Amino acid sequence: MQMCRELRKKGITDERVLAAMEEVPRHRFLDITLLELAYEDQAIPILCDQTISQPSTVATQSQLLNVQPGMKVLEIGTGSGYQTAILCELGAKVFTIERQKGLFDKTKKLLWDMRYNARCYLGDGYKGLTEVDYGPFDRVIITCGAPYIPQPLMDQLKPDGIMVIPVGSEQQEMLRITKRPDEEPLVEHFGNCRFVPMLGNIQFKYQ
Ligand code: SAH
Repeated sequence: MQMCRELRKKGITDERVLAAMEEVPRHRFLDITLLELAYEDQAIPILCDQTISQPSTVATQSQLLNVQPGMKVLEIGTGSGYQTAILCELGAKVFTIERQKGLFDKTKKLLWDMRYNARCYLGDGYKGLTEVDYGPFDRVIITCGAPYIPQPLMDQLKPDGIMVIPVGSEQQEMLRITKRPDEEPLVEHFGNCRFVPMLGNIQFKYQ
């Protein structure tokens, strides 16, 4: 498919990620008026002033995350559910958190209709999933721009687990963090990117 050819050109080499991207119909995650853009490599507006990430961004984060079948993955920022569906295609058990009720309701239903078995939660991603005893996680992926690395998410990551997170305010840097049992976490840098901001509790109260 054209999109996967573009992704290869942009440096995506993980065949499992490419196969997953081929499998998931991105147009199902978009508003009907924007359908013709579904397979272009661009971010597109969805409900609640948010965006569905660009395919190359989804592919890059998925590749960095190195998901193996059966792994427990925590995703922060469900949004349209497109990244969630890719993680499901990769064989992960996905737990995903969204703070906007409108998106949460719509996407939970869509994923269910498409037979993706992700567990969707409405809540504050800064906290991770404390109230339910599903952690710790093999992988954590954040799909909104985080001003810093939230400690609860580090705490919910297994030893040797991997977190992929865009860190910064206006613009972010893509980081891959590997939690090591007896050492400081390993932090690797993968260039600049731009995500909608990861919002905290204060905004959560008033929006
Ligand atoms: N992966 C999604 C990206 C959506 S944009 C997709 O491809 O569609 C990022 C999403 O993160 C938005 O839906 C936004 O509402 C959500 N978000 C922002 N801050 C959050 C927080 N603290 N907790 C959970 N979700 C958050």
